[in-house]
Amino acid sequence: MNYFRDSHRIVVKLGTSTLTHSTGHLNLRRIEALVKVLSDMQNSGIQIILVSSGAVSAGVAKVGFGQKPTTMADKQAMAAIGQSELMKLYDRLFSDYGHTVAQILMTKDILANPERRAAAENTFNRLLEMRCIPIVNENDPVSTDELTKFGGNDILSAYVAQFCKADLLLNLSDVDGLYDSDPRTNPDAKLISRVDDLDALEASAGGAGTDRGTGGMIAKLQAARIVTESGIPMFILNGHDPELLYTLLDGGHVGTYFKSKK
Ligand code: GLU
Repeated sequence: MNYFRDSHRIVVKLGTSTLTHSTGHLNLRRIEALVKVLSDMQNSGIQIILVSSGAVSAGVAKVGFGQKPTTMADKQAMAAIGQSELMKLYDRLFSDYGHTVAQILMTKDILANPERRAAAENTFNRLLEMRCIPIVNENDPVSTDELTKFGGNDILSAYVAQFCKADLLLNLSDVDGLYDSDPRTNPDAKLISRVDDLDALEASAGGAGTDRGTGGMIAKLQAARIVTESGIPMFILNGHDPELLYTLLDGGHVGTYFKSKK
């Protein structure tokens, strides 16, 4: 089955652990490789929408903060510093391949407010018509509570996929996919290549992943639920090997595929 055959618009979520080294600094080699593959996909006629984490981590690394920020003010300051660092790099790398990027920072209240929602939809649509690559992140510096926060980019990417009527969501993480038990504690854990029934699987999710992002398997399963119930399938795959995207593009199977309900 070639999952891309009917996928003209794809949301790609890149997690912090994919984009940064354990030092918190941006993983330039990996980001360059990812941008090249994503540019190639865009060249092939697929419309890419990127949801990128990594701002807080990049901010921490840039100012030499030395530890993961714990107060809201520190997190928000680091996000503000790191976001421009991230965009500067994406802009340069995508430009090298002839693509224009556009930054969209989202807060959750936009979804519930008809006027703001329409404005955001119009902006996305216009950018997509212009064949720009929207790069989306949560507007961390100004969101503080559950009204404004999506609660991590796994969830944000699911809403963006829904919002933009995407055909597929690719969640690139630091794990190969969903396992039947936690692979960090159980060496016999087996990768689940396909999920048709999410309810039956919910109990098998592991813990919080690395300490640089906010992801973890529970958030990924919540994201899978949001998109599959809207008729959008999702993959979890390992972002450490950007070539896996070509495997998918060529009709191969990698990671875990979540079948959509419609
Ligand atoms: N928005 C956060 C950042 O850019 C990441 C949140 C997440 O990893 O889920 O650092």
